[in-house]
Amino acid sequence: MSYQVAIDGPAGAGKSTIARQVAKNKGFIYVDTGAMYRAMALHMIRSNVDTKDAEAIAKASETADISIQYVDGEQIVLLNGENVNGLIRTPQVSAMASVSSANPQVRARLLHLQQKLADENDVIMDGRDIGTCVLPHADVKVYLTASARVRAQRRYKELVAKGESCDLDQIEAEIKERDHRDMTREHAPLKQAEDAQLLDSSDMTIEQVVDAICNLIHKD
Ligand code: C5P
Repeated sequence: MSYQVAIDGPAGAGKSTIARQVAKNKGFIYVDTGAMYRAMALHMIRSNVDTKDAEAIAKASETADISIQYVDGEQIVLLNGENVNGLIRTPQVSAMASVSSANPQVRARLLHLQQKLADENDVIMDGRDIGTCVLPHADVKVYLTASARVRAQRRYKELVAKGESCDLDQIEAEIKERDHRDMTREHAPLKQAEDAQLLDSSDMTIEQVVDAICNLIHKD
Protein backbone atom coordinates (compact mmCIF):
# COMPACT_ATOMS: atom_id res chain seq x y z
CA MET A 1 0.00 0.00 0.00
CA SER A 2 1.29 3.46 -0.85
CA TYR A 3 1.59 6.14 1.85
CA GLN A 4 -0.43 9.27 1.20
CA VAL A 5 -0.04 12.77 2.63
CA ALA A 6 -2.66 15.36 1.62
CA ILE A 7 -2.01 19.09 1.99
CA ASP A 8 -4.79 21.55 1.25
CA GLY A 9 -5.07 25.27 1.79
CA PRO A 10 -5.57 28.66 0.19
CA ALA A 11 -3.31 30.35 -2.37
CA GLY A 12 0.11 31.37 -1.12
CA ALA A 13 -0.01 29.37 2.13
CA GLY A 14 3.36 27.84 1.22
CA LYS A 15 1.99 24.41 0.30
CA SER A 16 4.29 23.70 -2.62
CA THR A 17 7.52 24.91 -0.96
CA ILE A 18 6.75 22.84 2.11
CA ALA A 19 5.43 19.76 0.31
CA ARG A 20 8.51 19.69 -1.95
CA GLN A 21 10.77 19.75 1.11
CA VAL A 22 8.79 17.08 2.99
CA ALA A 23 8.86 14.87 -0.13
CA LYS A 24 12.64 15.18 -0.26
CA ASN A 25 13.06 14.38 3.45
CA LYS A 26 10.80 11.35 3.26
CA GLY A 27 11.65 10.05 -0.22
CA PHE A 28 8.08 10.50 -1.48
CA ILE A 29 7.05 12.02 -4.80
CA TYR A 30 5.52 15.49 -4.68
CA VAL A 31 2.36 15.93 -6.75
CA ASP A 32 1.42 19.56 -7.40
CA THR A 33 -2.23 19.31 -8.50
CA GLY A 34 -2.47 23.10 -8.90
CA ALA A 35 0.01 22.81 -11.78
CA MET A 36 -2.37 20.39 -13.54
CA TYR A 37 -5.26 22.87 -13.18
CA ARG A 38 -2.95 25.60 -14.41
CA ALA A 39 -2.01 23.58 -17.52
CA MET A 40 -5.72 23.07 -18.16
CA ALA A 41 -6.26 26.84 -17.75
CA LEU A 42 -3.49 27.56 -20.25
CA HIS A 43 -5.31 25.32 -22.71
CA MET A 44 -8.52 27.33 -22.10
CA ILE A 45 -6.70 30.62 -22.71
CA ARG A 46 -5.15 29.29 -25.90
CA SER A 47 -8.55 28.01 -27.02
CA ASN A 48 -10.11 31.48 -26.45
CA VAL A 49 -12.80 29.97 -24.30
CA ASP A 50 -15.47 32.27 -22.89
CA THR A 51 -15.09 31.94 -19.09
CA LYS A 52 -18.83 32.29 -18.60
CA ASP A 53 -19.64 29.41 -20.94
CA ALA A 54 -19.47 26.20 -18.86
CA GLU A 55 -20.23 24.02 -21.88
CA ALA A 56 -17.38 25.55 -23.86
CA ILE A 57 -15.00 24.95 -20.93
CA ALA A 58 -16.13 21.32 -20.67
CA LYS A 59 -15.75 20.81 -24.43
CA ALA A 60 -12.31 22.41 -24.56
CA SER A 61 -11.15 20.18 -21.68
CA GLU A 62 -11.69 17.14 -23.92
CA THR A 63 -8.84 18.25 -26.19
CA ALA A 64 -6.39 18.76 -23.31
CA ASP A 65 -4.24 15.75 -22.55
CA ILE A 66 -2.47 16.51 -19.26
CA SER A 67 0.25 14.22 -17.96
CA ILE A 68 3.24 14.55 -15.68
CA GLN A 69 6.82 13.39 -15.62
CA TYR A 70 9.57 13.61 -13.03
CA VAL A 71 12.99 14.88 -14.02
CA ASP A 72 15.55 15.02 -11.19
CA GLY A 73 12.65 14.87 -8.73
CA GLU A 74 10.94 17.92 -10.27
CA GLN A 75 7.40 17.57 -11.60
CA ILE A 76 7.06 18.51 -15.27
CA VAL A 77 3.52 19.11 -16.53
CA LEU A 78 2.85 18.20 -20.12
CA LEU A 79 -0.06 19.70 -22.04
CA ASN A 80 -0.62 17.68 -25.19
CA GLY A 81 3.02 16.60 -24.98
CA GLU A 82 4.45 20.12 -24.44
CA ASN A 83 6.35 20.98 -21.24
CA VAL A 84 4.40 23.99 -19.94
CA ASN A 85 6.12 24.45 -16.55
CA GLY A 86 7.50 27.84 -17.61
CA LEU A 87 4.15 29.16 -18.82
CA ILE A 88 1.70 28.46 -16.01
CA ARG A 89 2.74 30.84 -13.20
CA THR A 90 1.31 34.07 -14.61
CA PRO A 91 -1.54 36.05 -12.95
CA GLN A 92 -3.65 35.41 -16.08
CA VAL A 93 -3.27 31.63 -15.72
CA SER A 94 -3.91 31.83 -11.93
CA ALA A 95 -7.18 33.67 -12.52
CA MET A 96 -8.28 31.32 -15.33
CA ALA A 97 -7.36 28.24 -13.26
CA SER A 98 -9.69 29.23 -10.45
CA VAL A 99 -12.51 29.71 -12.98
CA SER A 100 -12.00 26.60 -15.11
CA SER A 101 -11.29 24.36 -12.07
CA ALA A 102 -14.86 24.96 -10.89
CA ASN A 103 -16.07 22.97 -13.90
CA PRO A 104 -16.97 19.34 -13.02
CA GLN A 105 -15.73 17.91 -16.34
CA VAL A 106 -12.36 19.59 -15.87
CA ARG A 107 -12.13 18.13 -12.35
CA ALA A 108 -13.16 14.65 -13.49
CA ARG A 109 -10.41 14.61 -16.13
CA LEU A 110 -7.71 15.37 -13.55
CA LEU A 111 -9.04 13.31 -10.63
CA HIS A 112 -8.19 9.98 -12.24
CA LEU A 113 -4.60 11.01 -12.98
CA GLN A 114 -4.13 12.24 -9.39
CA GLN A 115 -5.56 9.08 -7.81
CA LYS A 116 -3.48 6.83 -10.07
CA LEU A 117 -0.26 8.62 -9.03
CA ALA A 118 -1.18 8.18 -5.37
CA ASP A 119 -2.01 4.50 -5.86
CA GLU A 120 1.34 3.75 -7.43
CA ASN A 121 3.70 5.89 -5.30
CA ASP A 122 4.20 7.18 -1.77
CA VAL A 123 3.02 10.74 -2.30
CA ILE A 124 2.66 14.13 -0.76
CA MET A 125 0.00 15.85 -2.83
CA ASP A 126 -1.13 19.45 -2.48
CA GLY A 127 -4.17 21.29 -3.75
CA ARG A 128 -7.63 22.35 -2.60
CA ASP A 129 -9.63 19.10 -2.43
CA ILE A 130 -6.98 16.46 -1.74
CA GLY A 131 -8.07 15.50 1.79
CA THR A 132 -11.77 15.92 1.03
CA CYS A 133 -12.14 14.35 -2.47
CA VAL A 134 -9.00 13.05 -4.15
CA LEU A 135 -7.49 11.04 -1.26
CA PRO A 136 -10.23 10.78 1.39
CA HIS A 137 -8.31 7.94 3.10
CA ALA A 138 -4.92 9.67 3.15
CA ASP A 139 -2.65 8.63 6.03
CA VAL A 140 -1.97 12.25 6.96
CA LYS A 141 -4.08 15.29 6.15
CA VAL A 142 -3.01 18.87 6.75
CA TYR A 143 -4.89 22.10 6.15
CA LEU A 144 -2.17 24.71 5.76
CA THR A 145 -3.15 28.34 5.96
CA ALA A 146 -1.87 31.81 6.87
CA SER A 147 -3.50 35.24 7.01
CA ALA A 148 -4.26 36.84 3.63
CA ARG A 149 -1.84 39.69 4.37
CA VAL A 150 1.03 37.33 5.18
CA ARG A 151 0.31 35.26 2.06
CA ALA A 152 0.27 38.42 -0.08
CA GLN A 153 3.53 39.60 1.48
CA ARG A 154 5.21 36.29 0.66
CA ARG A 155 4.08 36.47 -2.97
CA TYR A 156 5.15 40.14 -3.14
CA LYS A 157 8.67 39.27 -1.93
CA GLU A 158 8.97 36.46 -4.48
CA LEU A 159 7.98 38.78 -7.33
CA VAL A 160 10.27 41.60 -6.16
CA ALA A 161 13.15 39.09 -5.92
CA LYS A 162 12.49 38.20 -9.56
CA GLY A 163 12.72 41.91 -10.44
CA GLU A 164 9.01 42.23 -11.26
CA SER A 165 7.13 45.38 -10.29
CA CYS A 166 3.97 44.71 -8.27
CA ASP A 167 1.56 46.16 -5.76
CA LEU A 168 1.00 44.50 -2.38
CA ASP A 169 -2.65 45.57 -2.03
CA GLN A 170 -3.43 44.30 -5.52
CA ILE A 171 -1.79 40.95 -4.82
CA GLU A 172 -3.82 40.63 -1.61
CA ALA A 173 -7.04 41.49 -3.46
CA GLU A 174 -6.30 38.86 -6.16
CA ILE A 175 -5.52 36.22 -3.53
CA LYS A 176 -8.77 36.95 -1.68
CA GLU A 177 -10.77 36.82 -4.89
CA ARG A 178 -9.23 33.47 -5.86
CA ASP A 179 -9.82 32.02 -2.36
CA HIS A 180 -13.42 33.16 -2.44
CA ARG A 181 -13.99 31.41 -5.78
CA ASP A 182 -12.20 28.25 -4.60
CA MET A 183 -14.13 28.12 -1.32
CA THR A 184 -17.61 28.85 -2.62
CA ARG A 185 -17.73 26.74 -5.79
CA GLU A 186 -20.22 23.90 -5.97
CA HIS A 187 -17.80 21.10 -6.91
CA ALA A 188 -14.92 20.13 -4.58
CA PRO A 189 -14.64 23.51 -2.81
CA LEU A 190 -11.63 24.32 -0.68
CA LYS A 191 -12.37 23.38 2.91
CA GLN A 192 -10.63 21.69 5.79
CA ALA A 193 -11.35 17.95 5.91
CA GLU A 194 -12.85 16.90 9.25
CA ASP A 195 -9.83 14.74 10.02
CA ALA A 196 -7.20 17.24 8.81
CA GLN A 197 -4.74 18.93 11.15
CA LEU A 198 -4.91 22.72 10.95
CA LEU A 199 -1.53 24.46 10.61
CA ASP A 200 -1.41 28.26 10.53
CA SER A 201 2.00 29.20 9.16
CA SER A 202 1.60 33.00 9.62
CA ASP A 203 4.21 33.08 12.39
CA MET A 204 6.17 29.95 11.46
CA THR A 205 9.32 29.52 9.41
CA ILE A 206 9.41 27.09 6.48
CA GLU A 207 11.59 24.74 8.55
CA GLN A 208 9.12 24.75 11.42
CA VAL A 209 6.23 23.83 9.14
CA VAL A 210 8.28 21.12 7.39
CA ASP A 211 9.23 19.64 10.78
CA ALA A 212 5.64 19.76 12.02
CA ILE A 213 4.44 17.81 8.96
CA CYS A 214 7.35 15.34 9.00
CA ASN A 215 6.47 14.59 12.64
CA LEU A 216 2.98 13.55 11.57
CA ILE A 217 4.32 10.97 9.09
CA HIS A 218 4.85 7.51 10.59
CA LYS A 219 5.76 5.14 7.80
CA ASP A 220 7.09 1.68 8.76
O1 C5P B 1 -2.26 25.72 -6.05
P1 C5P B 1 -2.33 26.68 -7.22
O2 C5P B 1 -2.42 28.11 -6.80
O3 C5P B 1 -1.28 26.44 -8.24
O4 C5P B 1 -3.73 26.32 -7.93
C1 C5P B 1 -4.26 27.10 -8.98
C2 C5P B 1 -5.77 26.96 -8.99
O5 C5P B 1 -6.13 25.61 -9.34
C3 C5P B 1 -6.46 27.21 -7.65
O6 C5P B 1 -6.78 28.57 -7.42
C4 C5P B 1 -7.70 26.34 -7.74
O7 C5P B 1 -8.76 27.03 -8.36
C5 C5P B 1 -7.29 25.21 -8.66
N1 C5P B 1 -7.05 23.96 -7.94
C6 C5P B 1 -8.14 23.17 -7.61
N2 C5P B 1 -7.97 21.97 -7.01
C7 C5P B 1 -6.74 21.54 -6.69
C8 C5P B 1 -5.61 22.34 -6.98
C9 C5P B 1 -5.79 23.57 -7.59
O8 C5P B 1 -9.26 23.55 -7.89
N3 C5P B 1 -6.61 20.34 -6.12
